[in-house]
Amino acid sequence: MIELRDIKKIYRMGDTEVHALAGVSLTIEDGDFVAIMGPSGSGKSTLMHVLGLLDVPTTGQYLIDGKEISQIGEDDLAVLRRNTIGFIFQQFNLLARMTAVENVSLPQLYSRQKMDLKWGGELLERVGLGTRLDHRPNQLSGGQQQRVAIARSLVNKPLMVLADEPTGNLDSVSEVEILRILKELNDDGITIVVVTHEEEVGQQAKRLVRMRDGKVQSDERRAPKSVPTSRSLADEAVRKNPYREVLEYFYQGFRTLLANKVRTALSMLGILIGVAAVVAMLAIGRGAQKDIEASLSSLGSNLLVLRSGAIRRGGVAQESGSTTRLTLEDAEKIEEQVANIKGLAPAVQGRAQVAFGNKNWSTQVIGTTGAYEKIRAYTPVVGRFFSDEDNQRRNRVVLVGATIVREIFGGQDPVGEMMKINKVSFQVVGVLPEKGSGGFRDQDDTVVIPLLTAMYRVLGKTYVDSIDIEIETPEAMEQAQEEILELINARHRVPPSQQQQAFEVRNMADIQAALTDTSKTLALLLAAIAAISLVVGGIGIMNIMLVSVTERTKEIGLRKAIGARKRDILLQFLAESVVVSVIGGIAGILLGWGVTVAVSLIAGWATSISAGSVFLAFFFSATIGVVFGIYPAKKASELHPIQALRYE
Ligand code: ADP
Repeated sequence: MIELRDIKKIYRMGDTEVHALAGVSLTIEDGDFVAIMGPSGSGKSTLMHVLGLLDVPTTGQYLIDGKEISQIGEDDLAVLRRNTIGFIFQQFNLLARMTAVENVSLPQLYSRQKMDLKWGGELLERVGLGTRLDHRPNQLSGGQQQRVAIARSLVNKPLMVLADEPTGNLDSVSEVEILRILKELNDDGITIVVVTHEEEVGQQAKRLVRMRDGKVQSDERRAPKSVPTSRSLADEAVRKNPYREVLEYFYQGFRTLLANKVRTALSMLGILIGVAAVVAMLAIGRGAQKDIEASLSSLGSNLLVLRSGAIRRGGVAQESGSTTRLTLEDAEKIEEQVANIKGLAPAVQGRAQVAFGNKNWSTQVIGTTGAYEKIRAYTPVVGRFFSDEDNQRRNRVVLVGATIVREIFGGQDPVGEMMKINKVSFQVVGVLPEKGSGGFRDQDDTVVIPLLTAMYRVLGKTYVDSIDIEIETPEAMEQAQEEILELINARHRVPPSQQQQAFEVRNMADIQAALTDTSKTLALLLAAIAAISLVVGGIGIMNIMLVSVTERTKEIGLRKAIGARKRDILLQFLAESVVVSVIGGIAGILLGWGVTVAVSLIAGWATSISAGSVFLAFFFSATIGVVFGIYPAKKASELHPIQALRYE
């Protein structure tokens, strides 16, 4: 039994108040068939919405079986509504995308998370549409659509069916049919309340309530009420399975998206491009970084390189000339006097023309001592490194880099061959290990010969360009660095004002760290740019979801009327945006992977896709779906059922 006590509903429109219900007291007994009639604007629909728990009265009490429920929350109202009340609207309010039987079963999505199409089919059979289960609303006549809506109102076995002008849009034949069905339902014990302005409909009811100006004008019993169904609400408590619930939302979201393929594809595009960019950028950045790291690790780490800094810095060199040039003696003194030195190799560099047979090639010549092999990790892959004896005797022996082997020896093993360096004959004694290029100059385009040979026979230098010094431990490097500078400045009598510039000791570990840092920064920068495009993609999704919410306002109203809680609507829209972004994300990963492969094939850049970046991109896109989906989804969930239903 439903009892309304002095219900008032006041709409405020600016300064004026509209008293849609001005104190209605009404009792509706179980099993009754009540028609509510009255002129337009008399408050019939408002009363219906209050009765149907779609709207809350401004003041007054609403009691179900003596229990006061007018102050319970929106979501609790939704649950109560779907368990007890079925709705039939003048506009039918069927979802166009769904078939008849799916429309009928839709309320079950909210009451038991699973649409039982068999039960839906039985109900359609009962309203005479057993042969139309798979028709869509636009393939049905108005009367048939209203019968589908009646079947839908019955799907949760309601105690009461509320019909708002159910025959208002129908021809007279359909009207008779609909009324017959309603009467039948009432005979089964279901309470029926019909709002109508048609006298014929009112005359069919067992009780006729007339309204005027928001008040009950008359209340007339015309026939005894039916025996009510004996059903208590407790029977209907359904066990919830949260996983199935979420799965169902995703399934529904997926279907909605499939129904709007072009729009879905367009909203996916942003995420797709963003994710592809992130994956590709990270792969290219990581590839470059690995390359640099590889070529750096080939240098040896506890390495100091001493050079005269003056030459490159101008000033000092021009004034003091040869005083800042390093000599072989400097190297000897450093080795003698500085602590913790593991190895030391003076070196000269220059360019020279090399030749073998009829092949010519311009390359870098390095002249150094035997210690260079260990310090620079230059153990030959074929043959041997030269000895100190080779150096002392100024022997004409040479080690060649991989590029030289390729360019002038045609890839053949050159060991033992005689080649020319600046027209002087040298015997090849070994092949240097490959060091790669890594964005720098080609480190394999080089030949290495004994230091004295280089100085006096090839390059004509009486000084050395640099001294490589390997220190015992990383900890000792700083100290050694200072001692070396002090010693060398003293030896060359560099005035204190110029000591900063005359010589420099470069620490390979520092350079390594700096370069690695740079390449990391670069990779991050690339990824950040790509991430921005992801965010833009997210905004695209949000846009389209917002449009979709507006467009589906009526649908949201209907879903709420048939029992969807706020969170059901929220999750439904969220699931849609997550599905869009996750599918876009997966497609983006594939595209990014393709781009990466193409780039390394076409441009020849090193690339490296990491599982981490793929995971990151996926995670990112899913997060974007949630983040940018929340606002539209929240907006949808907060729509008022009545206003949403009335939205045009
Ligand atoms: P009926 O269904 O009998 O035609 P309604 O219940 O729809 O009447 O409306 C009763 C009164 O309340 C009318 O004067 C109508 O203009 C007003 N009304 C209904 N809904 C709103 C609303 N959302 N905002 C302001 N006024 C409203």
